[in-house]
This record gives sequence, structure tokens and C-alpha cells, in this order.
Amino acid sequence: MSLIETDSNTFDALGLSENVLKAVTDAGYQKPTPIQAQAIPYVLMGRDILGCAQTGTGKTASFTLPMIDILASGRAKARMPRSLILTPTRELAAQISENFQTYGKYNKLTMALLIGGESFGPQLEKLDRGVDVLIATPGRLIDHYERGGILLTDVKILVIDEADRMLDMGFIPDVERIVSFLPRIRQTLFFSATFPPEVKRLADQFLMNPKEITVSRTSSAAETVEHSIVRCGGKDFEKRAALRAVMASEEVKNALVFCNRKRDVDVVAKSLIRHGFSAAPLHGDMVQSARTETLEAFKAGKISLLVATDVAGRGIDIQGMSHVFNYDIPFHAEDYVHRIGRTGRAGTKGRAFTLVAPDDAKFLAAIERLLGKPLNVVAIEGIAEGAADEAGETGRERGRGDRGGRGRGRRRPGERDRERSPRREESDSAPARAEESKAAPAPVKEQAKEPVRANAPEGRRRDNRNNRDDDKPVVAFGDHMPAFLARGPSPKRD
Ligand code: ADP
Ligand code: MG
Repeated sequence: MSLIETDSNTFDALGLSENVLKAVTDAGYQKPTPIQAQAIPYVLMGRDILGCAQTGTGKTASFTLPMIDILASGRAKARMPRSLILTPTRELAAQISENFQTYGKYNKLTMALLIGGESFGPQLEKLDRGVDVLIATPGRLIDHYERGGILLTDVKILVIDEADRMLDMGFIPDVERIVSFLPRIRQTLFFSATFPPEVKRLADQFLMNPKEITVSRTSSAAETVEHSIVRCGGKDFEKRAALRAVMASEEVKNALVFCNRKRDVDVVAKSLIRHGFSAAPLHGDMVQSARTETLEAFKAGKISLLVATDVAGRGIDIQGMSHVFNYDIPFHAEDYVHRIGRTGRAGTKGRAFTLVAPDDAKFLAAIERLLGKPLNVVAIEGIAEGAADEAGETGRERGRGDRGGRGRGRRRPGERDRERSPRREESDSAPARAEESKAAPAPVKEQAKEPVRANAPEGRRRDNRNNRDDDKPVVAFGDHMPAFLARGPSPKRD
């Protein structure tokens, strides 16, 4: 069963207009997804909707398609949008607007985006002319409202997209304020992938007798995704080396790499680039133009790896992403489902790998509880675990000299380098780590000025119980990088 599971019914049966149906056919969609099949008729009837469906299930079209038809009659007055879509991030706002353009191509709807990081001028001009659809992030909308640039009294349809993400980002007070500016008589469409209590409260407050549609439980990870964990050491450089090793063992076409913190996004992206990977960071602190540029380059295949936080990576809709890598295991189990849902979309197979460090046990346990099953563990050659073996095989020491193999040659220079210049941070970071483990998810101390090398330190290597097969040559991943990820021109690639 694919994530984009379609019902047996067709788009024709949902009550949409000829124009919209034609645009849908042009877009190449054959059948509505379950959320589309269930929501569209009710939206057209004017009902409120409470939609719970995981990412990648086609929620956007479940509101954009009927909205195009509802808004087809009537005209917008200056500064008084007829519908409002609130979404947590600029990227999602841009994606929704692309959806309106695609499906609304045979209609003449006007649209404006109010998103942070872009100048006010052009946005205001559009609003002045009157818009049918206003797509906004909460902060920027409040800015405009407070400057008197906009009146929300004519809004007939309100969409709250990704409500749980709004909650995570601290936007709930803003959303409540915005909704208080809207007319009470309106149609509200509310979507969320998960329903924590705070989101439920919001839904109760905003919706009137909604049609509730739950498509698949959030806890059910996409079945088109093969996902596994890889145990590795907990130090930043060990994790980066492990990440490269996993990538080297896979055929990565394009992938998202998730970090829990913004600053790690930059560090990991830089490290990947230094090791010859085609990578770029994406996070909320980047200026809008840089974020747009990065996303475009990724979509165009000019960048293979996008390193992002949950917030920045949320909702990124890129077809056929081959992999998702969790450099950090997510703090919230639901995020795991969201993250791996970025691959294996629309019926394509995807693969996801999560690095699990010794201190990550409780986050791993939370994910396994949510999914109701243990995650598959894969052992990848060249990765030092550094973890206390859960199977209880403690004390099984591995001598340094017993890992001979043809591939080892590549590791040696790095080892020698390290031996010559012992790593100061090894000892420095020990007390810091002890503190951190007490209060996870406390931010991990940055390992300053640490050279990015692939090799695990000797201490870790002795603990390695991942590589049991001593006879196999150890492929050195340190500086090895598969050609398909190489930056720069390659004869085989465009
Ligand atoms: P969500 O908002 O639930 O995360 P999206 O609306 O972003 O999901 O849709 C996910 C992907 O599925 C998009 O690439 C979209 O183009 C595609 N999609 C949506 N509806 C259909 C459909 N009926 N048939 C095939 N693909 C679809
Ligand atoms: Mg969405």
C-alpha cells in the first residue's frame, strides 16, 4: 500500500467543476487520495473540516480544489481577502500557492502571499487590488494587520494547515489572535498530522460541527519507506563520520538530512561539503532569498543533500526523494514519522536511516512505542558504535590490530594524523557530556575546532561491536565518496 493511496472513486464523482477537473487531469492525478475523496464533497457543501492525515497524503489539494470552485463566483474588494490560509512556514506557503496556480489555471483567482522575509511593498500592492486567496504565515499577517494594511472581515473560508507544527513553532497565540479578527460566520478547514491536546483545544474553539476525517494514524509510518537505525558514537565527529558511511553504503540520489538544532544544520552541511558531497543547509535563520534559492537548486537536482531542521524540512514536497537521514534522532516521536514521510512519496520507494548514539536510547524507545514495533538495526561497515551493547555483550574488547583488511589502507593516514596530534576535546568534552545526559534534550556542547575526519577515535573503535565480521575488508568511508554525490561536473550527470 502506498502512502498516496487512492480510493476506488474518481475525481469526477466529487462535485468539482469542469475547470478544476481539467486542471487536475493536466497535473496527472488519476484518483483522489483518501483525504481528498472524503473532504472535497464536504468542503463544497460548506461544512467545517477537521482533517487528520499524515504528511504526504495530499491534504493541500483537499482544500485548494474545492476552494477554487467556491471562490469562482464573487469578487474580492481591496484589502479584503475572501479566504485566508494560515500555514507555519514560508516554504509551505509557497507550495500552497503553487497548488492554487496549478489547479486554478482555468480560473481567474487572485492570490497574495504574506510571508516573512520578503518586503512589504509588492505584497501590499496585491492586497490593495483585492485578493481571493491570501496565504500567510501568522507573524507576517499580524504585522500587516497592525499596520492597517488588511481587513479580515470579508474572509469566508479559513484554512489552518499543519496545526501541530504551528504549535511546535509557538504560533498558537498568533493564530488565536488572527482568528479573533475574522467573522464568526465562516467556513473553517483545519488540518493537522497529529492531535496533541493543545491542537484539539484549538480545533474545538475554531470549528463548528466539523466533519471529522482521519485518514491514517500518524503512528503508522509510510509503508513505502524502508527505515532503519544505525548505531554510532555520540560525539559530533563520530556522528558525521557515521552519516558519511551510511551515505556511502547507499545509492543516494537526493536526500534530506535532519538535525535537531539549527547550528548543527550548518556544521553538518559544511562538513558534508568539505568531504565532497553536494549539500546545502536550510533553516529558518537564512534570508528568504537564500532559502528559496537553496530549495530551487535542490528541486532542480543541482544539490543532492539538503540539511534541515524539522521546521525547515516540514512539508518540503520533492518528488522521488530517495533517502532521508536523521543525523539526530528526533526529540519527538511524531517527528520521526514526519521526517521519514519525506521519502517514499506518491508511491515511490524510499529509504530512511537514523543515527542512534548511546544517549539516544529514550528517544528511540519513544519512537518504537509510537510505531508499536522495534526498529530495524543495520550494521554498516566503518561505523564505530560507541554504544553500550544492548544485547549485554559488554566487555567484548576488540584489539586494535585485528581489523586488517584491504580497505584499511585508506583509514591509516587519518589514524596517524590523529595519533600525532591527540584530540584535546576527547577529554574536554567528557564532563560536558555527563551533564548533558542528565537533562536530555539539553543542547549538546559544540565541539570547537574539531577537524572533520571520518575516523572514529581509538577508544571508540575498541568498543565497536558493530563490525563483527573481521574477515571482510573494511571499506574506508572517511574520504571516500560515491561519484553520484560528487560536486562539480561529472560526465554522467547534467
Ligand atoms: P500533505 O499536505 O498531506 O503533506 P501534499 O498536499 O503536499 O501532502 O501532497 C503530497 C504529494 O502528493 C504532492 O507531491 C502532490 O502533488 C501529490 N498528490 C496529491 N494528490 C495526489 C493525487 N490525487 N494523486 C497523485 N499524487 C497526488
Ligand atoms: Mg501539507
